Amino acid sequence: MSTRSGIGYDSHRLVEGRRLVLGGVEFDAERGLEGHSDADVLSHAITDALLGAAGLGDIGQHFPDSDERYRDADSLVLLSDALASVRAAGFELVHVDATVVMEAPKLADAREAIRDRLAEVLGVPAANVNIKATTGEGIGFVGRGEGIAALAVATLAQRANG
Ligand code: MG
Repeated sequence: MSTRSGIGYDSHRLVEGRRLVLGGVEFDAERGLEGHSDADVLSHAITDALLGAAGLGDIGQHFPDSDERYRDADSLVLLSDALASVRAAGFELVHVDATVVMEAPKLADAREAIRDRLAEVLGVPAANVNIKATTGEGIGFVGRGEGIAALAVATLAQRANG
């Protein structure tokens, strides 16, 4: 079986008056992420990892932020659409590993809910999705609480008849 990996990275600014959604799970937080869609930085990083592994470009090519269809879009829908493209190109998702980098709130309490929600959308067992969290240790835009970043790696298997 031939496997391929892709990486994804994204960051969004934290602002007042926006929802904070990570991996499709909404947090009770004073500030949320600014962006054209719901700005779910974790889902965006995973979407880019999937597209990268399949050689299908990046999230901006598939879902341009100039397109009004994607204003306030649920990023899990974009992730699901990207997965459909990946499958159509002859691949199956094997595993996703991701890291969220943020100062607050803490991800720990929502970690399992995020993993389960993403696994459901991605069509893989929860054991095949791993979500990690770290802080910026007070350094840089994350450390100053100005934004949240996420990184992801996706592993795909190429179907024999793909
Ligand atoms: Mg983004």
